Amino acid sequence: MKIVLIGPPGSGKGSQANLVKKAYDIPHISTGDIFRQMMYEDSPIGNEVYKYMSRSKLVPDELVMKVMNEYLNRPEFEGGFLLDGFPRTLQQAKLLDKIIHIDKAILLDTTLDVVSSRVLKRRICPNCNAVYNIEFYDKDNCELCGTKLTMRRDDNKKTIKERYKDYETLTLPVVEYYKLQGKLEVIQAEQTIENVFGSVKKVLKRWVWLF
Ligand code: AMP
Repeated sequence: MKIVLIGPPGSGKGSQANLVKKAYDIPHISTGDIFRQMMYEDSPIGNEVYKYMSRSKLVPDELVMKVMNEYLNRPEFEGGFLLDGFPRTLQQAKLLDKIIHIDKAILLDTTLDVVSSRVLKRRICPNCNAVYNIEFYDKDNCELCGTKLTMRRDDNKKTIKERYKDYETLTLPVVEYYKLQGKLEVIQAEQTIENVFGSVKKVLKRWVWLF
């Protein structure tokens, strides 16, 4: 099944995608993780990505599509995947449809207040991209690979407001796009990670019967 996971920054897309990956063995593709890795590579494309990410701006659609076109055609993703953070604009969604057929979309819906407090508590593993919340995990190192956890440089009060605004203006039209196609399922993401995952599992179980 080819699924798109949509939601504002800090809505828990990465955490849910990791849980889905573990439980159902569906590959998790995060454009944020891909670009964070690329931005430190000393290559023309890495330098270009850095220009935008270092200012917490969205990477231009053309560049995103160039990277994703190559990525999504890899044999390991033939059987399905969960896309996290992509498509993020209507143009990306339309161009994605030309590359691959998307079966379903899940929206993790939540407010600016909730995500603002969440991102300040978020820590990530720079090695394996695992995501933690210091409220529930108070260790300094990743429990999966032992690497020292860090904070994302774009997880601060100022940029979260800008990123949420980008979400409202650029990504909500993507939500509407999948809704009109009858592919969208909305999940309230204010609850705990476990409860949200419970809702995600219910949706996936229902869909499994369809495919
Ligand atoms: P994320 O981890 O999804 O919050 O993404 C982190 C950053 O990567 C974003 O703030 C953008 O700079 C960039 N990025 C990730 N996905 C996309 C996308 N689909 N389109 C444009 N920029 C993206």
